[in-house]
Formats: sequence, C-alpha cells, structure tokens
Amino acid sequence: MRIAIVGAGIVGLAAAHALLDRGHDVILVDPGDQSARPTDGNAGWIAHTDVMPLASPKVWRNLPNWLMDPLGPLSIRPAYLPALTPWLMRFVLASSPLRIKASMAAIRAINAEALPSWKSLLSSLDLNAHLREKGILSVWKQHEAFLRSKDVLDRQRDLGIGVEILDRKELARLEPALHNVEAGVLFPEACHISDPAHLASDLKRLALVRGARQVAARARAVKADDAAIRIEAEEADDAIVADKVVIAAGVWSRPLAEMLGDRVPLDTERGYNATYPKGSFGLDRPVMFEGEGFVTTPLDTGDRVGGAVEFAGLEAKPNHDRTSAMIARLRRFLPDFKADQEARRWMGFRPSIPDSLPVIGPSKRDRRIVYAFGHGHHGLTQAAVTSRLVADLIDEMPSEIDLKPYSAQRF
Ligand SMILES: Cc1cc2nc3c(=O)[nH]c(=O)nc-3n(C[C@H](O)[C@H](O)[C@H](O)COP(=O)(O)OP(=O)(O)OC[C@H]3O[C@@H](n4cnc5c(N)ncnc54)[C@H](O)[C@@H]3O)c2cc1C
Repeated sequence: MRIAIVGAGIVGLAAAHALLDRGHDVILVDPGDQSARPTDGNAGWIAHTDVMPLASPKVWRNLPNWLMDPLGPLSIRPAYLPALTPWLMRFVLASSPLRIKASMAAIRAINAEALPSWKSLLSSLDLNAHLREKGILSVWKQHEAFLRSKDVLDRQRDLGIGVEILDRKELARLEPALHNVEAGVLFPEACHISDPAHLASDLKRLALVRGARQVAARARAVKADDAAIRIEAEEADDAIVADKVVIAAGVWSRPLAEMLGDRVPLDTERGYNATYPKGSFGLDRPVMFEGEGFVTTPLDTGDRVGGAVEFAGLEAKPNHDRTSAMIARLRRFLPDFKADQEARRWMGFRPSIPDSLPVIGPSKRDRRIVYAFGHGHHGLTQAAVTSRLVADLIDEMPSEIDLKPYSAQRF
C-alpha cells in the first residue's frame, strides 16, 4: 500500500521504517521548518523504567510550591489558563488512585516493549552506536525528601522495574560530581542516546535510502473517500493521495484529528533546555534531580540540562528566564559546574495528553487513518514500539499490546 505519514518527527520516522519493513510505499509529509519540535531537543532518555503518569502523587505533592514560583518546575501562564481549563479538568480526573493505576498499567505495557523495539530498529539499520546503556540516576539533595518518595519507588518495584538504592558513598563512587547529594537511586535498565537530533537525522536519511519519498508541505486537511485518502497541504498544488494515512504531527495533530471527528485533549507542556560543552557537568550518565523538574544528559554533542513544564500554548515566545532558573538550581547540586560558559538554549513543545498516554489507534471517521501522537514526556522512549503498533493497525493485524487504553475515542 501507499502510506502517507503526516509528521516526520521521531514518531513518524520510526513508523516509516516499520512500514517499509512491511513492504509498503511510504511518503513523509512534513514542512521541515519546526525548530521547536521536541524530536530534536529532548533529553535523549529511553526511560522505559518511568511508568508514573504526570498526574501522580509526586507531582501533586510538589504542585503548591511549584505554582508559587513562575520560574519553577511547573508553571501556567495566566493568559493561557482559560484555554487550558478543559485539559486541566481532565488532568484532575486522571489523578484518582484508580485512574493512576490504570495509566501506570498502560504506560508499563507499552514501555515494556520500548527498549527491545529500539534495539531491533537500531540494529536493523546498523545504528546501534546511538545507544548508551549506563542506566539513569534519580537523586535527592536531602535524605528526608528521598524517604517521602519511597512509595513511588515501591510501585515501580512492584511492576518489575529494577531499582537500586545507593547510599551516599556508592553514589559518590558512581558519580563523584554529586558529592553533596544525600540520596540516589539507579535504574540500571534505562538508557540514553547519543543525541536526539542526530538520531532523527539518521532515521530520516535511511528512510529515504530505503525508498521513502519526502514532501515538504504542511497538511491542512485529511479527507477520505471510497477510493483513497487525500491530504490537502499548504505548499502542495495537488492533494497527496494515499491508501492509508498515519497522523504523527506531535502537538500539531490536534486540528487534524478534530477535522476527523476526534476531539482529543492534546496540549503542549513546553520544555526548556541548555546544552553546555561536553564534560561541563562531570556526569557520566543521565540524572533526574527529584523535586526540581529537570534532568541532565551527557550527550555526544554536549551536556544538556533540561525539563520543566510550562503551560503557555504554541504562540507565546519562550521565556528563557526559566532556563536560567533551572541552571541556577542545577548549580546547587553540582557546585563544581561553571555555568558562565556559552550554552545553546532551546524551548520545545511536548505533545501532552492529561492521562500521560499517547493516542495510538484508528480515527473515528475512517480506519484507514491511524493516529500516533501525544507521547508527552515519553515520545523518544515509545517511538519504536509505537511504530510496530502503527504497522499492525495499517495492516489490520492484531497487536502484541491491547490498544484500548490509547484509543482517540477514550475521552
Ligand atoms: C525538554 C524536553 C525533554 C524531553 N526529554 C525526553 C526524553 O528524554 N525521553 C523521551 O522519551 N521523551 C522526551 N521528551 C518528549 C519527546 O521529545 C516528545 O514526546 C517527542 O519528540 C514527540 O515526537 P513526535 O514525533 O510525536 O512530535 P514532534 O517532535 O513534535 O514532531 C512532529 C513533526 O510533525 C511536523 N508537523 C507539524 N504539523 C504538521 C502538519 N500540519 N503537516 C505535516 N507535518 C507537520 C513537524 O514539523 C515535526 O517534524 C522531551 C521533550 C522535551 C520538550
């Protein structure tokens, strides 16, 4: 079949390879002008060990403090509050113990296949060199704060996730730069990649080598009739015609889904980062600074500190005072880090759904149109497994995972 994929971010690119593997003709439709797409600027974690939805006790515990600080780990721009209200209401609903349990089970189901799917995709393309298997660390500045987080760790253990609690000495041995941090936990199975933009660029290059076609255009509408699916695009004179279509345009998927009869509560959690010259942090593996809302990663292209959640929609300009505040907080953990060097600063749009589950499944209007968007904080982690599920949906084959929790019609 001829399959058009709307959006060539990490999710669309992984889907392209899964569909090429199944023998389909692939057309990638993407204007290619989106510097704020999270595919390129994310932290590079394959964090399949993280199964907590955002609507978790951990976030609710910290929320009052965070909201008091406009530059803190989570903020809402007041002007954006009316537009965000429906999303927030669903976020509150997703926070009941029952719903958290259901979200965790669904995140666990997809995350369990995340790393094997990446390994298989990378090795089939001879791209194994992108993967770094060093685990990830969570650290708490104070031991008391760590003790308050034990319930979350217990839940992760109950789900079969490897959790190694480190004492101060073990932590300092693993990462000497963290010498003034009191508590740490190693998740040995988690991984990171060389650099997210490099990985995406390699996946795109190889998709084209394998015969995928590229159309530099922004889809405006997707229309189905008995014979075919037509994509009307801003920059293309003629509609792009395909047998089936995958919508993988990240946060920009919402208007397309809405035209197809699916009102999906998709909004953006804007994230920020700064990338310093390699070696600046003195850390050998990714670190999550608990309660602070940011992480660091030793990428091949530099040491990145990133994270934070800002609800301000797609139009407002970035506020890099947030990045500066994150850097200042990082220095409290890493006293030896010299923050006055040149750093690249970036802001990007996470495509987020209130229950922290992506949308993977057919559209309401036509089963030939398949959604793959809304992966929030886990889009890199889940891209390869999503691609397999998308290929099953396109081929109308049963999937290895029950897809009901990810349906666009669940709202
Ligand atoms: C600061 C930060 C750190 C993160 N860290 C991690 C991490 O460590 N691990 C992890 O798993 N996830 C992480 N994420 C989340 C992850 O980056 C995203 O979930 C993921 O990149 C989403 O990928 P995507 O392909 O769905 O969307 P995008 O990256 O947004 O790509 C969408 C593509 O669609 C195209 N497009 C848009 N509109 C149209 C249209 N109308 N027609 C055609 N094409 C269109 C765009 O040009 C773009 O290329 C992080 C995010 C942020 C912001």
